[in-house]
Amino acid sequence: MPELPEVDTIVRDLRPLVVGHRLGRPTMRHHDVLRGITKPRFLAGLDGARIARLDRRAKHAVFTLARHGDAPRRLVVQPGMTGSLLVYDRALTDDERRYAVLRAPLDDGRELVYRDVRRIGRLYLLDEDGYARYDAAIGPEPLDPALDAAAFGRILGGSRQAVKKVLMDQRKLAGVGNIYANEALFAAGIDPSKPASRLAPAAHARLLDELRRILRAAIASQGTTFRDYRTGTGERGNFQLELFVYGREGEPCKVCGTRLGATHDIDARVTVFCHRCQR
Ligand SMILES: [Zn+2]
Repeated sequence: MPELPEVDTIVRDLRPLVVGHRLGRPTMRHHDVLRGITKPRFLAGLDGARIARLDRRAKHAVFTLARHGDAPRRLVVQPGMTGSLLVYDRALTDDERRYAVLRAPLDDGRELVYRDVRRIGRLYLLDEDGYARYDAAIGPEPLDPALDAAAFGRILGGSRQAVKKVLMDQRKLAGVGNIYANEALFAAGIDPSKPASRLAPAAHARLLDELRRILRAAIASQGTTFRDYRTGTGERGNFQLELFVYGREGEPCKVCGTRLGATHDIDARVTVFCHRCQR
């Protein structure tokens, strides 16, 4: 599933291609990705709107749409496991048409496409109040300088759940999923199953530092590659970030050589860790 760095990459690649452009009449092949809005209202809301901004919030892409006489609206794209946002300057192939869930022509003949092979992603079109509620339901951004070690410590200190679960809880902290939670906990030398409230303040500060370092490194290497992931210009992610634990269960720890353990007991996702480095 794309996490903060992958969605950041998509948004960064796409922004110069779409911001300032106006959408023509969009079409949808499947509308089961829509939430809280009917297909006719959704399509009418996009038709003729100018893309004023494109930003990332948590693991989502947020288009700010402006249309003369209307209050701005937000198109929120949650790409999920298999979704991608793409811009084409040519006709789509049969395969591309098949998986194109939403197609919106741009004013210069190009086309903005939301592609989703398994349609696990979600699309929302929100007015100002709806967007305020959406935004308020998500925790702070880990790369926001306003989130200092004390504030991060309050998030962790307030929960007796496993620290890994708290890191991945989008209501508490935005954008972190299984890959970067595993990697940050390894780098900080913290047992992922430890109750968050039992970590010392020094561990909070270390975990925040390592989480930020890893997220920044992942953004710099355009996210981690995985199946179906495409950057905003359609290329496969350019995997340069060295992973220490995620996907390496049973392999030797790159720091101490101990065989890495794995468990599904924390959150039903695979947690990979080093018994020696993370106690
Ligand atoms: Zn180790």
